[in-house]
Amino acid sequence: MKHEYDKARARLLAEIRQNARETEMWTGREAFSDRVMAAMEKTPRHEFVMTEDTPYAYINRPRAIGFGQTISQPYIVALMSDLLDLSPTDRVLEIGAGSGYQAAVLAELCARVFTLEVVDDLAKSAARKLEALGYANVQVRHGDGFAGWPNEAPFDAIMVTAAPQRMPQKLIEQLKPGGRMVVPIGRPHDTQSLCLCKKDENGRTTVENLLPVAFVPMVNMTTR
Ligand code: SAH
Repeated sequence: MKHEYDKARARLLAEIRQNARETEMWTGREAFSDRVMAAMEKTPRHEFVMTEDTPYAYINRPRAIGFGQTISQPYIVALMSDLLDLSPTDRVLEIGAGSGYQAAVLAELCARVFTLEVVDDLAKSAARKLEALGYANVQVRHGDGFAGWPNEAPFDAIMVTAAPQRMPQKLIEQLKPGGRMVVPIGRPHDTQSLCLCKKDENGRTTVENLLPVAFVPMVNMTTR
């Protein structure tokens, strides 16, 4: 951990704590777990932003990562990680590897992370970065998130970091009974609703709409 970022990181953690309190009426959580906050503290966001953006890496904002894509706002990364209630033994699927930052946060919270990215160049750079930083429990693959990752399914939890217009059915199928999925659902280039989908032990799913968010669209691989 680079000393030069300590102060900015401490300020960011304080802001995330404050954002959590301010959004409790939507999320039902006034604070995130110690495990999630520790993962946020440990994960070097400055390694995942573009080189010229490293001075701003710990500002609580999304940032461009090229190819029209963004690395999510740290508060949203913490919130979505917290909503999955992960155990150290869990296997998690992420859709939209992007920079690889969210996968790195998840890697601190569970046993294995599988992350799909539709932009080949981003998949390659995220994989290289995560490997160089020593995240041995993350696998990145270039592929279509709508299809999920059937060979590794079912998953204890799924996090979708691009916005589909409706609930992706194949992902629900790849969720274990008792599993949880967070996904922003809504029209492209509009505000979406962050949804928490829970599958019960009988395989029945319920969906809660938590709060308005803004994500890049989840695109079909064939039409991009
Ligand atoms: N989790 C990322 C941020 C993701 S931005 C991070 O921490 O940096 C959303 C990402 O989803 C983009 O990189 C975009 O290319 C990708 N994406 C969009 N549609 C997709 C699809 N159908 N399958 C997989 N990835 C997709």
